[in-house]
Amino acid sequence: MSRILVVEDEAAIAELVSINLRHAGHEVTLAETADQAQAAVDHALPDLVLLDWMLPGRSGLSLAKHWRADPRTRALPVIMLTARAEEADRVAGLDAGADDYLSKPFSPSELMARIRAVLRRKAPEALDDAVEVAGLRLDPATRRVTFGGREVKVGPTEFRLLHFFMTHPERVHSRAQLLDRVWGDHVFIEERTVDVHVKRLREALAPVNCAAMIETSRGAGYRLTQHVRAESE
Ligand code: CA
Repeated sequence: MSRILVVEDEAAIAELVSINLRHAGHEVTLAETADQAQAAVDHALPDLVLLDWMLPGRSGLSLAKHWRADPRTRALPVIMLTARAEEADRVAGLDAGADDYLSKPFSPSELMARIRAVLRRKAPEALDDAVEVAGLRLDPATRRVTFGGREVKVGPTEFRLLHFFMTHPERVHSRAQLLDRVWGDHVFIEERTVDVHVKRLREALAPVNCAAMIETSRGAGYRLTQHVRAESE
């Protein structure tokens, strides 16, 4: 369901973690160094990063700080994995911008619980929780969209786009941000693609009079609002 980047140089831990994540339905990308992790993030923004502190070369801590300073990765959910458990280290990790901190050894169930908690707070579109805005309901588990009990037929890309909009209502998202967060790719897909799918999404929502919930913010991007303007396009 969610795309998780695991940055860990110890092969045994990387394998154990990725087996558990894949078993839980996540899509896993592995990186052994900070440079590999940066390359993976440059290619496609993951929903969450499990970042080992001690890596050969550049440390995970330094990488987390770098991501927090870059607008594209500022909000990227990061859980630091580390053998260190000292209070000072914990504080340094959180100061560097980690959303949570897990000391090795940890149990798979604790890892999953922490991942869910961070995603719920920062990337709810990566979870299977049903979401409702102004009567429009989307359920990722059943892949159904309904309004007042009426089913709304939505294509797979429009479904993901609507899910992202509904979990981040009222905020304007640029086309580049939508490509990053919905398509997972901001480089190889044209921004015009977003316009095409927004148009299709509005068409899908029209039969239940919800098309106007998807607003165009001129020069800025798109947003979903529950406060539909009377003169809305
Ligand atoms: Ca390590």
